[in-house]
Amino acid sequence: MMKTIGILKESNGVSVVTLTPFNVEKLKELCTVMVETEAGHQAGFSDEAYAMAGATIISDREQLVNDADILLTHSATVDLSGNKKRKVVIGSHNILDDYSRILSFQDPLVDLYSLTLLPRTTKAQSMDVLSSMAAMSGYQAVLYGLNKLGTIAPMMSSAGGTLQPAKVLVLGAGVAGLQAIATAKRLGAIVHAFDVRKQTKSEVESLGASFIEIVGAKEDEASGGYAIEQDEDFTTKVQESIATFSKEANLIITTARIPGKPAPKLITKKMVDDMQLGSVIVDLAADTGGNCAYTENQKEHQLENVLIIGNSSVFNTVATSTSILLGNNYFTFVKYLMSKNQMETPDEILDGTRITANGKVVNERVIAEINTY
Ligand code: NAD
Repeated sequence: MMKTIGILKESNGVSVVTLTPFNVEKLKELCTVMVETEAGHQAGFSDEAYAMAGATIISDREQLVNDADILLTHSATVDLSGNKKRKVVIGSHNILDDYSRILSFQDPLVDLYSLTLLPRTTKAQSMDVLSSMAAMSGYQAVLYGLNKLGTIAPMMSSAGGTLQPAKVLVLGAGVAGLQAIATAKRLGAIVHAFDVRKQTKSEVESLGASFIEIVGAKEDEASGGYAIEQDEDFTTKVQESIATFSKEANLIITTARIPGKPAPKLITKKMVDDMQLGSVIVDLAADTGGNCAYTENQKEHQLENVLIIGNSSVFNTVATSTSILLGNNYFTFVKYLMSKNQMETPDEILDGTRITANGKVVNERVIAEINTY
């Protein structure tokens, strides 16, 4: 029998949608698709567009949740108290940073998957929601930050003289950081960047930015390409080294993260106090504590000299573009899941992302994390 997919409307300021009408059109051979009323509205996809693509629009959320075999919710929690049907719930719930997000999904009829736990392998690349969100956030953080400055990005000569280019400092040169660097460079800013992973030096330089070299960072090959926590001495050394650049910067974009751990504090209060009047910090690591000592998550905080923007979900401000990327990620994952007999053979992608099976936590990374609480 054909499976039924349900797409939920997000909440709490999340504007993206898990599948676009383009994805729905491609799925209709394989399954029936139900879309909650206005699920794609904030991302620029109307109910009519989903209906044209073959979906049924449902206004009763309880009915949609109950009827779905596969329920897609990017980050919204779901009331499953009346659920009577076996189902798979797929989303991007950030379980490692907030275990409480599992609780509403602990139903014996539910298997929960989170794509935030996807292995960063070539095979899984087309399902990588973290890369999609990070790329959009990195790009948009630069535009958002520049909009708050009183200066323009490029050098410009005009009748009134020559304006010097803005100075941008990017901390953390992973997916978001590299996209921020590329965007700031394209706009003509002078860009400096730092990351603890050695390989990022060539990536930063290939975008035309200058890499700040600070020796002594710890790396661990077993971390799957991610950075690991640094000791206090090294962090102090980093703060001292980048203070020269933060003092001069008009805009700082911070993106440094360590999965499942608080974000490293790279910018002290003293460094902020020493910054130029009118400068801006956009902290994309705000949801895990922030890279700046003054950051408050989901808040814009005007200090005497500096505006601090603590926002890890800037991608919501470009919800159409982000949803096109996320939609393709979820679409690929759903197709992959449907092609497998999930519980029988070991599968790196499904085993890595499955958080609960029959309502019980089965994910090794999540169990290890719970045990450290
Ligand atoms: P992330 O969001 O976990 O972290 C962002 C950046 O912060 C990283 O570059 C990290 O090195 C850096 N960072 C952490 N601590 C720091 C500190 N103390 N000081 C300065 N910088 C610090 O990382 P991400 O952007 O998701 O990417 C992590 C890795 O995964 C990269 O190697 C990336 O190339 C890789 N990746 C692989 C795939 C794939 O193969 N499918 C997809 C995406 C990313």
